[in-house]
Amino acid sequence: MPAYAIISDVHANLQALKAVLAEIEKEDIDSLLFAGDSVGYGPEPNECVELLRTKTSLMIAGNHDWGAVGLTDVRDFNAYAHVAIDWTRDVLTTENFSYLHDLPLTKKISGDRDIFLVHGTPQEPDQWHYFSFEFDAKVNFRSFDEQICFLGHSHIPFIAERSPRGKTSSFYARAEVKDRYRYIVNAGSVGQPRDGNPDASYVLFKDDVIEIKRVSYDILLTQKKMKKAGLPSYLINRLSEGR
Ligand code: ZN
Repeated sequence: MPAYAIISDVHANLQALKAVLAEIEKEDIDSLLFAGDSVGYGPEPNECVELLRTKTSLMIAGNHDWGAVGLTDVRDFNAYAHVAIDWTRDVLTTENFSYLHDLPLTKKISGDRDIFLVHGTPQEPDQWHYFSFEFDAKVNFRSFDEQICFLGHSHIPFIAERSPRGKTSSFYARAEVKDRYRYIVNAGSVGQPRDGNPDASYVLFKDDVIEIKRVSYDILLTQKKMKKAGLPSYLINRLSEGR
């Protein structure tokens, strides 16, 4: 069975991306999947898009990727995200701009365990909903056919498991994948975690175990670069708090 690493929501944080890639390199994985939002918020969008292009096997679009290239209406973004996305649009190279423009919304991978990859939710991927298992697990599990869906967007990592009888359970560190059970897994965020833990988050899926991993990185250096780029201090400060 192939081994996967899944990363999401890098948000132009090169320091966090490099730290996570260095950890992933120590794991014996076959394929690195990216669940969207390479840019937005952070100071190094071009570097991150270029590194992701060389390191990942599959990339899909997030709302910030599509927002930066005019495919998603950024008037729905909050004021800080809006400022950052305007800045991002200005600094993106023509090549990276068209790369983001061509990213698909979803991807499917067939194998021993079929995989569905989306940024927001399997239900209406282009509406950028946040998945929450308390309220909309049922409809979202019905919105894809594969056994496991990996996603991001909320920047809060977790694993939702649905039994063949329709009972949903949640895990925050690790889950064993069982036949006939289905999973929705939020990989959390590499570049801007929001679960109170400032360490970068990613997911490892190998030998039928899904594991949420955390990696510390040089937050101060990212914050310095953000300051230099003139990005909002609200966005700079939240990195050290993981919120
Ligand atoms: Zn995001």
